[in-house]
Amino acid sequence: MDTGDSRMMQDVIVVGAGLGGLCVLHHLLEAGFAASCIEAGAGVGGTWYWNRYPGARCDTPSLEYSFGFSDELQQEWHWSEFFAAQPEIERYLNHVTDRFDLRRHITFDTKVVTARLDESDWKWTLTTDDGRRWIAPFVVMATGCLSAPALPDYSGMDTFVGLSLQTSSWPGEVDLARKRIGVIGTGSSAVQAIPELAKVAGHLHVFQRTATFTYPSHNGPMDPAVEEAAKARYPELRRLERTLSNGIAGFGGAPMFQPPRPVNILESTAEERAAVLGELGWGACRAWSDISTNAQANEMAVELYREMVRRTVTDRLAAEALSPYGYPLGCKRPVLDTGYFEAFNRPNVTIVDLRSDGIQAITESGIRTSSSDIDLDVIVFATGFDAMTGALDRVDIRGRGGRSLRDEWASEGVKSLLGLQLAGYPNLFTVNGPGSPSVVANMATTIEHHAEWITACLLHLREKGLSAIEPTTAAQDAWADRVNEIASKTMYTAPTCNSWYLGTNIPGKRRQFLPFVGGLSSYIAICDDIAREEYRGFHRT
Ligand code: NAP
Repeated sequence: MDTGDSRMMQDVIVVGAGLGGLCVLHHLLEAGFAASCIEAGAGVGGTWYWNRYPGARCDTPSLEYSFGFSDELQQEWHWSEFFAAQPEIERYLNHVTDRFDLRRHITFDTKVVTARLDESDWKWTLTTDDGRRWIAPFVVMATGCLSAPALPDYSGMDTFVGLSLQTSSWPGEVDLARKRIGVIGTGSSAVQAIPELAKVAGHLHVFQRTATFTYPSHNGPMDPAVEEAAKARYPELRRLERTLSNGIAGFGGAPMFQPPRPVNILESTAEERAAVLGELGWGACRAWSDISTNAQANEMAVELYREMVRRTVTDRLAAEALSPYGYPLGCKRPVLDTGYFEAFNRPNVTIVDLRSDGIQAITESGIRTSSSDIDLDVIVFATGFDAMTGALDRVDIRGRGGRSLRDEWASEGVKSLLGLQLAGYPNLFTVNGPGSPSVVANMATTIEHHAEWITACLLHLREKGLSAIEPTTAAQDAWADRVNEIASKTMYTAPTCNSWYLGTNIPGKRRQFLPFVGGLSSYIAICDDIAREEYRGFHRT
């Protein structure tokens, strides 16, 4: 339906009011652009609006998973824990929204369904699910990397008479006390939810397809001394984040991963490995220099991890089921947990290993595996996302000559210049788009960098009297090659690796590694150089 109702003459429309959208909106307004934002949810927060499942929490330290663009903001906000939980992050983002007077620029409960370029005047027209049209020369898609939920396609999905829930669109408070709950999936979301669900469930069945690598977060209440020390030199620490490969300086106080020691596990003795295991525990598997380049070394390190699982999970069969096999350490995103393996020592928790006992169907009363029917009151789908591209290509985006981004990515693979812009789609920007560090770095840092870069780019166009900018195909191809080449030397792309980074969690999605893993600091240097050199690799009109 096209009601003809349109919001004319914004300079920029920002799609999404999560961390990315809020940050871009603020930067654009500060720079004097007329900008407005369209958000599908009823409130701000994006990921932190939708993912309300029990245990939802960030795995980047709170003091760093926050904005640095205003020192007043970072001084006045107090984080109660090293790793903040969803409600606190949502409160923070609401505070940011009101503190910087962003709310009146955001239209909520409204979903963008199409985006079309008119080449005659370089304007984009967006249509939303309420039939409205929105027109602006520039569009910033801040639609998130992990915001398009993925659901499995088991037969009988709609026959289950109990409650079906998704971690990625959790409806807030749900009374799960004494319920028979089944969780499908053991990625980050499930690993956080399982210990919390186990505390209240009558019985919890965990349906696991791939055992995960997860590490204790050592989360706890914020230490006032740590907070004070960080606040005393916050701007300096923010600068430090940008000089690091993952944007996390570790000043949150909670122990983070240590860099590997200069020792090869292939050259170690059994006694040395046992000593490292005794000293570092869960960190022992990551402590060696050769595990990211040598498959045999990697497998030896995985064995140290399995040993920790055996030491933690008391039931021998459960420990074996929870032990990762068949893919390397460093292939999937590492998970941080609070009491994950310990939850399986509770009498009300059962692991169902789908490697040997696959799901046949969802039934009226629960889940049918090859060996049994498991009766459930609640099924929780913690089955992940169509990551990095899903939220973008669920919008029907049409660029030059009516070309379709969705079709182009499906047939030719995903390409972008710097994860910031797409050849053929002038004046459309992506925040943390494919080809940028995004999900392999501190998302708050990468978002701020993108917000600054996009704003500076628009100011540059305005200053020069230009009306359009778009990557050249050659520059975009070269960047895609670089992204692939760097990833091809890592465990992220090992032949036995399947992950949402590679898109292999989505049936039919092309196997392609999506983020830039060359390091945040070098990425920022590249982006800055390009801007300094009058946007080398971009065509301006
Ligand atoms: P995920 O890592 O993709 O995990 C999905 C889980 O569901 C996997 O165990 C997957 O198994 C399983 N699964 C998918 N389809 C299935 C099927 N048909 N049958 C059985 N199992 C199936 O998704 P996620 O846990 O939502 O996490 C995604 C990302 O979001 C994380 O890696 C992280 O970047 C982010 N996240 C972060 C936090 C945090 O900050 N702490 C919390 C939650 C999420 P396979 O492994 O076999 O595919």
